[in-house]
Amino acid sequence: MRPLKILFVAAEMAPLVKVGGLGDVLGALPVALAARGHDARVLLPAYDPVMTRKARVITLLPDGSGRLLEYRASAVSVPVWLLETPGFLRRGGRPYLTRAGTPWADNPLQFGRLGRVAADIANGRLVDAWQPEVLHANDWHTGLAPVWMHLENCPAASVFTVHNLGYIGRFPADILSRLGLPPSMNHPDALEFYGDIAYMKGGLGFADQFTTVSPRYAEEIQTPAFGSGLDGLVRARSDRLTGILNGIDPEAWNPATDPALENHFDAVRLDGKRDERDRLLHGLGLDPVTDSPTPVLAWVGRLTAQKGADLLVEALPGLMERSVRLVVLGSGDRDTEQTLVGAARRWPDKLVVHLTFDEVLAHRIYAGADMLLMPSRFEPCGLAQMYAMRYGTIPLVTPVGGLVDTVIDMGDGAPPEKGGCGFHLAGADAPALLEGVDRAIGAFRQPGYWRTLVRNAMTRRFDWNSSAAAYERVYQAALRDKPAPDRPGIPRRRTRLRQRASLGSR
Ligand code: ADP
Repeated sequence: MRPLKILFVAAEMAPLVKVGGLGDVLGALPVALAARGHDARVLLPAYDPVMTRKARVITLLPDGSGRLLEYRASAVSVPVWLLETPGFLRRGGRPYLTRAGTPWADNPLQFGRLGRVAADIANGRLVDAWQPEVLHANDWHTGLAPVWMHLENCPAASVFTVHNLGYIGRFPADILSRLGLPPSMNHPDALEFYGDIAYMKGGLGFADQFTTVSPRYAEEIQTPAFGSGLDGLVRARSDRLTGILNGIDPEAWNPATDPALENHFDAVRLDGKRDERDRLLHGLGLDPVTDSPTPVLAWVGRLTAQKGADLLVEALPGLMERSVRLVVLGSGDRDTEQTLVGAARRWPDKLVVHLTFDEVLAHRIYAGADMLLMPSRFEPCGLAQMYAMRYGTIPLVTPVGGLVDTVIDMGDGAPPEKGGCGFHLAGADAPALLEGVDRAIGAFRQPGYWRTLVRNAMTRRFDWNSSAAAYERVYQAALRDKPAPDRPGIPRRRTRLRQRASLGSR
C-alpha cells in the first residue's frame, strides 16, 4: 500500500512512559509501520519535566493551556510530540494515579485536552508542515479526538483501538462545556453514559474504524459479560470492528541477548535458563532447590481483580502446601498488596513479593521462572504470557480474550507435538487455578515432556510485522469514505449519523 502519514495519540509509550501493555504497543506498532514505509508519529503527554528537558518547542497551544514539544532522544526511532501542560507536568511520571493510588482529579480535563490537540493536528491547525491522513487514537484517554474530528469534518480518517474496555473514562457531564464540546454530545447516541459522560464512547461511536487487541476480545466485547455497558454500541458498529493481536518486540525480549540476564539461552540451548533460575532464586533470597523437581511459579502484572489477583490470594494457602516457589512482581489493589506482603512473611522460604514496577526484574523473572500464573477474568490481549513463552516459561491462563488466541492448551496430557505451550484453566476461580497448577506440576515432573513444551513456547512467533499489515488494512478501510487529502474542504458522507440513531447504546 502507498505510504501514509499516521499520527498516534496515546497516554503511554515505552520506553518513555509505561504502565502496562498500552505502553508496549505504542513503543512498537508505530516503529513497525515506519519500517513498512509509513510516516508514523506519536503524540504523548509529558508527565515529568525530565521528559521535556531536551525537547524543542513546536508551538504554543492557542488557548494558552500548554505547549507542543518535539521530543529528542535516541530512545525512540519515530518522531514523538509531547503535550506539555502544567496539569500533566506535575504528575511526576504517574500518568493516571496519584502516589496514594487515586485518579488525578484533573484527568478528564487533561486527557480531554489531549484529544483536542490530536484533533487540531489532524485538522492541520496546530502544526504547519505536517498533517496526518490517519489519526490513530488509543483507549479512553484519547476517545474525544474522533469526536472533534467528526464534528469538524476533519479530512483525516480516524481509527480507535480499545486496549482495555474495563476502563471507560467516565466523568460528570459538566466536562463537556469545560472542553467546549456541544451539549448535543450529552446524549445516549453520543457520549452520555448513565447520566455521566464516557470518553470511551467517543472512540467506539465516532471513529471511522475501531479495533481491539485480539480477535477473541473483539467478539467478547460484543457481549454484556465483557462489554462494560457498551456492548450495544460495539455490536451496532461491529461491521467497523477488527481484532488484531499485539506482537512483541523480538529484540527487546530476546533471552539469547537480553542485557538483564547473565546467562543467555534459546530454544536449543536451554542450560542458561536453569542458571538464570538459580540466579533469580538466589537474588531473591530463596533456596535454589535442586534435589527435587520444584517449579518456580511467577506472577508479573497488576494486582487487580481483572488479572485475578484476588484468586491468587485465595489460592495462596493451597499453593504453599505444594512443592513450589512463587515470585510475585506487581502492584495494585492495596488490600491484595498487604495480604501478599503478610503471606511472604508467613512463608519466607517459598514466597517472595515485590510491589514495585521493575522492568529488569520482570525480564529476570520471565527468564528464571518455570510457570507464569495469569488467571485473568478478562484479558484484551495480554503481553506477559507472550514474554513468558519467549523465555520458555509456561503460562497458566484462563481461556479468555488474547490468552485464548496466544496460548495453545496442553489439554489433558495432549501430545506436545501438537504445539501445546501452556495450560488453560477451567475457569476464573481459585480451585481452577490450583487444579491447573497440579496439572502443570505433573507435566513438569516429566523432563522430556516439559522440554518439548518449553521449546514449543519459545518458538511461537508474535510478530509486529503481520499485525502492522493488518492495521494497514484497517487504515485503508477508514480512508475509503474520506475526501482526497488535497481536497480537504469536501464534506464527508454522513452514513454514521443514521446508523447511530438506532443504537440504544447504553
Ligand atoms: P496490562 O493489562 O497491564 O496492560 P499486559 O500483560 O498486556 O497487561 O502488559 C503488562 C506489561 O507490563 C508487560 O510488559 C509486563 O511485563 C509489564 N509489567 C506489569 N507489571 C509489572 C511490574 N510490576 N514490573 C515490571 N513490569 C511489569
